[in-house]
Parts: sequence; C-alpha cells; structure tokens
Amino acid sequence: MPRFRYSSLVPSLVIQTSFLGDTILTTPLLATLAARGPVDAVVTPLGATILRGNPAVRELVVFDKRGADAGLRGVRRMASRLRAGGYTTAYMAQGSLRSAVLARAAHIARRVGFDTSAGRSLYTERVHYHREQHHAERLWRLAAGDDAPSPDADAIRPRLYPGADERAQVDALLAGFTGGPLVGLAPGSIWGTKRWPHFASLVAAIDGVRFAIIGSTEDSTVAETVASVAADRVLDVTGRLSLLASAELISRCAVLVANDSAPTHLASGVGTPTITLFGPTVPEFGFGPLAPRSETLGVDALPCRPCHPHGPRECPMGHFSCMRSLEASRVAARVRNLLA
Ligand code: SF4
Repeated sequence: MPRFRYSSLVPSLVIQTSFLGDTILTTPLLATLAARGPVDAVVTPLGATILRGNPAVRELVVFDKRGADAGLRGVRRMASRLRAGGYTTAYMAQGSLRSAVLARAAHIARRVGFDTSAGRSLYTERVHYHREQHHAERLWRLAAGDDAPSPDADAIRPRLYPGADERAQVDALLAGFTGGPLVGLAPGSIWGTKRWPHFASLVAAIDGVRFAIIGSTEDSTVAETVASVAADRVLDVTGRLSLLASAELISRCAVLVANDSAPTHLASGVGTPTITLFGPTVPEFGFGPLAPRSETLGVDALPCRPCHPHGPRECPMGHFSCMRSLEASRVAARVRNLLA
C-alpha cells in the first residue's frame, strides 16, 4: 500500500457524490492529489464504504444528500462543516449545481470542475470534458490539467483496499469450494437494459471452472437461476458481502464477467481481468474496464445502439437485441481465452 509524502500541508477537497462506479473511478484523482498534500473527500454513505482504507484519503466526509442531509438545510450544515476544514481548493468530481453551491457556500476559493457540468457557472476553473477519454482520465485531469500528456495506464487505474476483515470473510466463504479456476459473474445492474440475460447459458457452456456470483440482494433472483444450472460449481454470494468484501472476492477470481456497471469498476480496482458486456451503452462513453487484459463485448452492427447514456428501463424498440443477440458461446470463448 503506498504511503504519501506531502509537498504541502494545505488540504484539498474532492467532492464526489455520484454513482458508485464514478466514486471508484475517482481514486486515480485522489492518488494524484495526495502526492501534493492532504486530501479529504465528500462522498455518499455508499461511496464511503468503498473508499474505506484508501491511503490517499485523509478524511471521508459523508454527505447523505438523499437522506439526513437532504435539502437546503443539509447543504448549509455541510458547508459549515467544510468551512471549518480550511480548504483552499475543491475538485468537483461530481458536477451538479448542488455540489457547486456547497463548495462556494463553504468559502472554498478555488473550485475546479468540468466545462459541461451543471454547476460550471460557479467554478473558478473549468477543465474540458473530453468525451473520447475514459472517465478515470477525465477525472484525473481535474488535477493534472487539460495540457498534461496522456497518462500511462497505471496512472488512471482505480485502486481499492480491502482489509483484513474482508480477506477473512472471503477466506471463510471459499473454504472447501475447490475444483478449477474461479470465474466471477456479476449479472446485476440498476439499469434494466444493461442486464445481459444469458449468464445461466454461460455457466452451462464452460466446464471445469468454479463460478462465484457477486451482487446485491436485488440480484438474488437472477443469481438463483444462474446457480441452478450447476449448483456444485456455483457459489452464490449475492447480498452477503460488503462492497469491499466483494472486491476482495473478485480479486481471487481469474476473470470477472460483468455488465456495464459497478462490478466492472470493482474489478478494475483490484486488477482482475474483466469481460464487460455492453448493450444499450458503449465503451466509448468512457466507463470500460481498466484492469490489465480486460475486454469488452457488444453487438456492433446494431443501428439503434447506443440508445441511452445509462440504459433505459426497457428497450424502446421492444426487441432488446443489443443484449439478447450477444450469445453465451461468444462470451464463453473469451473467458476460455483469458483462462488459458
Ligand atoms: S434500442 Fe437498441 S440499444 Fe437500446 S435497448 Fe433496445 S436493442 Fe438495446
């Protein structure tokens, strides 16, 4: 685990209260800033759980914007807390107007964010949002600047830090579960059309490996269906692990197969080769896997694709071919190739 030697003792602040994947992709920015001075991060309660143990972060400031800190009163209370922190610079990794108002109300003089963000009129410096770049690089450029040369892959690879508790939990789960390499499956997504419907067929198509199904309690129904294909070779841990423990389990896998959703970024954070399946979205949006030897798969010759920045709740065309036509045999071939 890296130790950071500060060249300045003036703390900077990163505000990142977006989705979990975005929070994970902010870790290269945090590491870059930590080489300059202490860094605190304003994050959601969920974001705090995934950044726990990150040596780049001095303090995690939890902003429960949809719960206890909702509304103007919550912003005022958080601004008052941040004022006491003496921050001179805020990096606006999440671009809402609320976050910009928060930084300004906290009297943070320098506010750096993207030139496309909703809160940009309140920023003092705007960095170009390069649509063609990976989001981890876009975030990294908030500190590195527009003119910085392209970073090497390692500089923008996210890092997660499961601890001893997570390792012990995963050791216990895997005890006695033997027989071939371990392949992680993450069949869930909060966006309905991002869920690839052929995970069960994938299990049936690959012999001689063990599978671990990772996800939340919302993914338990689909996990049961997948596990029923080969119960002796499939370990269903949906709803049983924290995010960091899930990252630890993914770190034990030879390969992870995931949708375009948070588990892809968990795998990037622990360096597990990942096959990410894209349906209504495409890797060019900037959210593909970053672990070495990772791959992306999708149905390329589909005129309706991509159709939505996140993935609509239901396919607007009705046929859902972007995911239905991505055959299990094609994914299985890529898994076998990575295992080889
Ligand atoms: S419109 Fe096309 S890309 Fe969008 S969900 Fe339907 S099949 Fe997929």
